[in-house]
Amino acid sequence: MSAELDRALATAHVPTLMMALVHLTGDTSHIDGAPPLVYEMTGDGNGNLPPALQDEIKAKVKTALLAHKAGKPLAPVPDTATLRKMMNTIAGVEIPPHYVPFLEEELAIDGRDPKKPAPIAPKLKAKGRSLKVLIIGAGMSGILTALRLKQAGVDFEIVEKNADFGGTWFENLYPGCRVDNPSHMYSYSFEDNHVWPYLFSTQPVLLAYFQGVAKRHDLASHVRFGTTVKEARFDEASGNWRVIVAKDGKDETLTVNAVVSAVGQLNQPNYPAIDGVGAFKGPTFHSARWNHGVELKGKDVAVIGTGASAFQFVPAIAPDVAHMSLFQRTPPWLSPTLDYHNKTDEGMNWLIQNLPFYDKWYRFWLFWMGTDGVYEAMKIDPEWADRKDAVSPVNHELRSMFIEMVKMQLHDRPDLIDKVIPDYPLGGKRMVRDNGVWLDALKRPNVDLVTTGIKRIVADGVETVDGKVHKADVLIYGTGFKASAFLDTYKIYGRGGVELHEQWAGDARAYLGMTVPNFPNFFVLYGPNTNIVVNGSIIFFSECSVRYVVGALDLLAESGAATMEVKKDVHDAFNARVDEGNSKMAWGSPNVMSWYKNALGRVSQNWPFPNVEYWQATLKPNPDDFILDGEKTAKARAA
Ligand code: NAP
Repeated sequence: MSAELDRALATAHVPTLMMALVHLTGDTSHIDGAPPLVYEMTGDGNGNLPPALQDEIKAKVKTALLAHKAGKPLAPVPDTATLRKMMNTIAGVEIPPHYVPFLEEELAIDGRDPKKPAPIAPKLKAKGRSLKVLIIGAGMSGILTALRLKQAGVDFEIVEKNADFGGTWFENLYPGCRVDNPSHMYSYSFEDNHVWPYLFSTQPVLLAYFQGVAKRHDLASHVRFGTTVKEARFDEASGNWRVIVAKDGKDETLTVNAVVSAVGQLNQPNYPAIDGVGAFKGPTFHSARWNHGVELKGKDVAVIGTGASAFQFVPAIAPDVAHMSLFQRTPPWLSPTLDYHNKTDEGMNWLIQNLPFYDKWYRFWLFWMGTDGVYEAMKIDPEWADRKDAVSPVNHELRSMFIEMVKMQLHDRPDLIDKVIPDYPLGGKRMVRDNGVWLDALKRPNVDLVTTGIKRIVADGVETVDGKVHKADVLIYGTGFKASAFLDTYKIYGRGGVELHEQWAGDARAYLGMTVPNFPNFFVLYGPNTNIVVNGSIIFFSECSVRYVVGALDLLAESGAATMEVKKDVHDAFNARVDEGNSKMAWGSPNVMSWYKNALGRVSQNWPFPNVEYWQATLKPNPDDFILDGEKTAKARAA
């Protein structure tokens, strides 16, 4: 073990080791005596700790871990004051007090799953009631809802249009597909498995992960795969939802007490509004519906779009194609991430499995560094409101650093520099992780980055506004998704027969992203204004939302009410606050157009506040926010 330990310590994350050492020994003197950790964007993550101190910490960890393996018990769980000191140390900043309970929960240092729901079933039984929930979608959020409802003892069923679990990771099969969040963070907080093959998981790894979680929680027997939802209709007389589902051409109506729509935001392909879409005579497909049957080797390929998906598949296919015309309307910001494609270090995997609390603190460090730690840099400073290219001094500073990184990479191709540097502020759109492969692809002799506007699609290629036809054998759309068209794949009729999309009139809104007036017991996951641009992982948001939804069901059980419907004034006040918040962020700048904004120009996707605020707001539903249909009515209905 000593040799493995030595190998692992050689490449270990030293700030995380410092925390693990406290758990091994109870001693905090190495924290008290250490200089403050200072992290740099392109640093090694060890907070500029002097090498001699790093070696000293490694030696102490070695001694303490060997002693622990020989039988010495761990120190007691640190008290709150010590934990707080540890958090501040590893973060390299004084963490504001209101973050502490939130971060303590994320850290889950006592090994509990703090978001695990208390059982609801006994409350229902005591009131002689039952509750059945329909979950629409078996992706990341649907799986999460299902396993939480199982833990709470609530009856549920899932309908899923695909043939298996996985959602976006089941559907997006384009070459090079992987997540842009670190694997140790893009994973459920309550699952132990933090041994990952890559620092940023690839699509097959994530598909296997989500399917593995579904299997471990034995969810398959609750799912109807290959089943689509056509319509959900609230029945006022019974307080139930009647949902028409279709499988193999046959319709069936399911009756449930509540519906959780977990259909995602980013899965309806967006085919751009360009003249001639459909005119192209060769094979054509969207990145999210990749046609692996189309041979690209030796072909002339046209790609429209340079967003997150194209950013991954273009470098993967460029070496194979004869020629690529890559049509860029707006360049993305490139966030330097040199280790983006790296395998996880064997030493890290060993430490995660053998050094107590290494996994917890490493995840905690990623969480802090990658979430509210960067949020502030995207806030508009009113003094800078007139600037088109940056929103604050710190945003400008980051911009300059990012530009320098691009220029360094393009020292041999200065002609590309102006084409790939965005003119909008950093944080206006989601940044893409850059380890060099994108610009390497653009530099290839067989790749043309076309920045002249597209006029139309023609039978044999793409015509730009200068009249040039860029010939192609295959046309690939990397043009994103119809993100603002929330829940667009089925009709939803609420109280008084009002249809949700008609009520929204192109401007989807919900309270906390989840509940909408006139739609009792209907909950949306990854709904309006719950997406994030720079800070964190969507799994964190789903975990918060699902806790809230389960809390809502608990409220129904506790109160005896049959239905709960968010009050309009609560919903409207929340949305006004969200709109104001988004107007203060880089992605809300008037000069940024992105899929975060709907056709009316409102930011309908993003949560504008720090993550801690969503966590706080979703701990538990406030009964005062809802119209609860009383116990008497519920009993009368049950009779
Ligand atoms: P996207 O980021 O929205 O990119 C779409 C691209 O198509 C943009 O370059 C856009 O240009 C371009 N486009 C759209 N309509 C056009 C038109 N009419 N003419 C010319 N160009 C047009 O879509 P995506 O790449 O599929 O990604 C969507 C989101 O999914 C991401 O933001 C991210 O949240 C998620 N995602 C994540 C990953 C990951 O984790 N690594 C990978 C893929 C997707 P404009 O910028 O000018 O609009």
